[in-house]
Amino acid sequence: MCAASYFKVDQRASTGARRLLMATYEYLCSRCGSFDVKLAIGTAPTVHGCPVCAAPARRVYSSPGLTLSSPTVSALREREEQSREAPALVSEVPPGRRVPPRPHPALSRLPRP
Ligand SMILES: [Zn+2]
Repeated sequence: MCAASYFKVDQRASTGARRLLMATYEYLCSRCGSFDVKLAIGTAPTVHGCPVCAAPARRVYSSPGLTLSSPTVSALREREEQSREAPALVSEVPPGRRVPPRPHPALSRLPRP
């Protein structure tokens, strides 16, 4: 199992009228290896029966996948978050971006002398 989906929350899962948030938990069977179980958040037991051999398998804690986005997207998010606290101050228009002012379109309809 990929560690990224370890804490993945399935908000579509529901039981009856009450909606439960589901999470994927990872267990390790000593004979068959690791397997995933989808359970409501906070209800995962430390030991779960293996779906193949029914032997007790213990829960495995792994790190969540925190690098789901590309480095470019991560850099943009970081920059955007930083601009909330300390936005970069600009004192003048950057060079090369000056656009000459255009006359207002209504001025062309005025009578000429
Ligand atoms: Zn097993």
